[in-house]
Amino acid sequence: MTDTSHIGPPSRVHFCPACKKPLRRIDGKKGPFWGCTGFPFCKTSLNDVDGKPSRDIDEHYRCPLCTRQLVRAAPEKGDYWFCSGFQKGCKVTLADHNGRPETAYLSHRCGHLLVKRKGKNGEFWGCREYPQCKTTYPDKNNRPDFDFFPAEHT
Ligand SMILES: [Zn+2]
Ligand SMILES: [Zn+2]
Ligand SMILES: [Zn+2]
Repeated sequence: MTDTSHIGPPSRVHFCPACKKPLRRIDGKKGPFWGCTGFPFCKTSLNDVDGKPSRDIDEHYRCPLCTRQLVRAAPEKGDYWFCSGFQKGCKVTLADHNGRPETAYLSHRCGHLLVKRKGKNGEFWGCREYPQCKTTYPDKNNRPDFDFFPAEHT
C-alpha cells in the first residue's frame, strides 16, 4: 500500500494513485471525471471535484444541472441536498431519500429540473420553474415519460 494522503507537486498534472501514470480529464455524459492514461491496463477513474481528481471512492452525487457536487444540508435544516454551486447561481435542491438525493430528471425541452406532481388525472412531472415554464411529462413507472413529446419540440 502506498500512502496517497500526500499532495503532489503544484502542477496541473495529476497522477493515477494506482499506477502513477498521468490522469486525464474526460467529459463524460454524467459530468467530468478523471481516467488513467494507462487505460485499458489501469481502470482507475476518479471523480472530478472542482477540476481536480478526487480519490474518494464513494460515488459523489452530482447536480443534474451543472454536475457540481451535491451537498447534504445540515440535519437541523431538513432532509435535502443542495448544489455546491449555489453561490454561483445554481439553485438545485433535491429531497433526501434514504441518505441519497432523490433521482433527478431534466426536461429535454427546457433543460429544467422536473418535479413529480399530483394532478386530477394522476401523477405527472412538471417543470420546477412552473408557472414560468409549463413543460409537463406524463408519469411512466415513476419517471417522466420522455417519449411523450417529440424531441425537437421547444
Ligand atoms: Zn492508473
Ligand atoms: Zn448545480
Ligand atoms: Zn422548464
